[in-house]
Amino acid sequence: MKKILFTDLDGTLLDLADYSYDAALPALEALKKENIPIIFCTAKTFVENEYYRKKFGIEDPFIVDNGGAIFIPRNYFSFRFECKGRGDYCVIELGASYGELRAALKAIREETGFEITGFGDMTAEEVAKDANLSVEEAERAKNKDYNESFIFDEPEEKEALLFDKIRAKGFEVTHGGRYYNIHGKGADKGKAVRILTALFEQEYGEGEGEGEVKTIGVGDSRNDISMLNAVEQPALVKNKKGTWLDLSLPNLYKAKGEGPEGWVEVVEKFIINQSINKY
Ligand SMILES: [Mg+2]
Repeated sequence: MKKILFTDLDGTLLDLADYSYDAALPALEALKKENIPIIFCTAKTFVENEYYRKKFGIEDPFIVDNGGAIFIPRNYFSFRFECKGRGDYCVIELGASYGELRAALKAIREETGFEITGFGDMTAEEVAKDANLSVEEAERAKNKDYNESFIFDEPEEKEALLFDKIRAKGFEVTHGGRYYNIHGKGADKGKAVRILTALFEQEYGEGEGEGEVKTIGVGDSRNDISMLNAVEQPALVKNKKGTWLDLSLPNLYKAKGEGPEGWVEVVEKFIINQSINKY
């Protein structure tokens, strides 16, 4: 059986406050040794994903911009499928363009007077300060293709109207750890996970139907719900408040650890300990 790990980054594999991941490194190495695909499924941008893939030495496909697009290294799968070439990757685009999303936010700001500040309205220095990133990291975070992150500086009760406005314009909205995120309606983490899972099944399924590929998904917040719904074994790590996202799914595992520590727990429980004894 081929196990596939879909993982959120911010607040899950990476600590939400300082983006540290040291706790996860031994388990990451063990996964790589076992050839378990580690699929980032994140709000992060293409360039941010590339940065972390390089850092961790991961060469598997990845899902950017909250499901806006799936990047698959060329020749990763042994068969051909429909996609758009971009550098070393074959890209399946699901999301709306950055320009369309920026225009929608601008229109909503004008219609409602809401305090909405997108990454595109901020300098790299401002994003760096707000997100606790270096300026270099902030530049990568601003480099969006299929979504826009924004701050909604209004009382919580106005959130429902904001969501209505975004949906009325034909887009979707999620609220991750720190920011709100607007993206195309056809695009969410879950849809991207399903498409990629089907490709893995084509590669490893050998016509057996289900059972050849087992998907595990791990996340921490609302923008992970569609991903957790799309995998066989969903798991949550604890957030900074020491609690879990309020979510009930039949099979849901709730890790005791926060962020990367919870991530390790999930990997050990569902992947590593079942394939090797020690690492
Ligand atoms: Mg997260």
